[in-house]
Amino acid sequence: MRLLTFEADGKVRPGALLETNGIFDLSTAGFSSMLDVIEANSGNPQKLQELLTKASADTAYSLGTVKLLAPIPKPRKLICVGLNYRDHATETGSEIPSVPTIFNKFATSVIAPGENIILPKVSKSPDYEAEFAFIIGRGGRHIAAESWKEHVFGYTIVNDVSARDYQRATTQWLMGKTFDTFAPMGPWIVTADSIPDPHNLDIRLEINGETLQDSNTRELIFKIPDLIAFLSSVFTLEPGDIVSTGTPAGVGVARKPPRFLQPGDDVVVKIPAIGELRNPVISET
Ligand code: ZN
Repeated sequence: MRLLTFEADGKVRPGALLETNGIFDLSTAGFSSMLDVIEANSGNPQKLQELLTKASADTAYSLGTVKLLAPIPKPRKLICVGLNYRDHATETGSEIPSVPTIFNKFATSVIAPGENIILPKVSKSPDYEAEFAFIIGRGGRHIAAESWKEHVFGYTIVNDVSARDYQRATTQWLMGKTFDTFAPMGPWIVTADSIPDPHNLDIRLEINGETLQDSNTRELIFKIPDLIAFLSSVFTLEPGDIVSTGTPAGVGVARKPPRFLQPGDDVVVKIPAIGELRNPVISET
């Protein structure tokens, strides 16, 4: 099942995208937002599926005639994992980590599919990072790794856009990671029941048609069970929290010569099991 957030008739609504590309407006079923949908249905996607089966004829909107937003436009937490693919840790000259590197991006950095990535005037090295992200359904603290499936609501795509000069100016990466527009997300959430094995998904990034990253989530060093256990050992995971699992090899800063983002670029992250996240790039004016 594909769930999205869209704007139509002047109102932001959660929806379900059907096979026909029709959208069932979940606000007509009493849900005010995607966070509301996740909270009400965490751990029980069947309930949502039953609702959709009943309502599937009632699709007032279709994809292509509405404005898509990020599936969760204002997440409570957007948690990121650094250096989590073996090939990427190697290309950046880092050792394979024994503890996950965790940072975050603020909700103000989130943008929709198709929305402009704005390159800040102050950075000389804006870069791209294709990432597979999972979304927490049922929250909790001290979650055991083996219980991970009970806590994952679904999956989406994030581009962890990064200003390398700001990222590397200190040991704390946050300032390089959380410029406005630096978290394109979407195009939708695929619910967990639709992806039996999230640790075997192809992931690619293309700019202007050229493939720059090409890997598979089986290369992840810390997988979803480890990440849920580690994160929830420190803080409470809540419904709708997003964990972006890190990027594979091929980032711009590690290429020779480096290949940073430029105005006019068309950046596409593809995870075929989920979809495509496409964003144009412009300069800050
Ligand atoms: Zn990243």
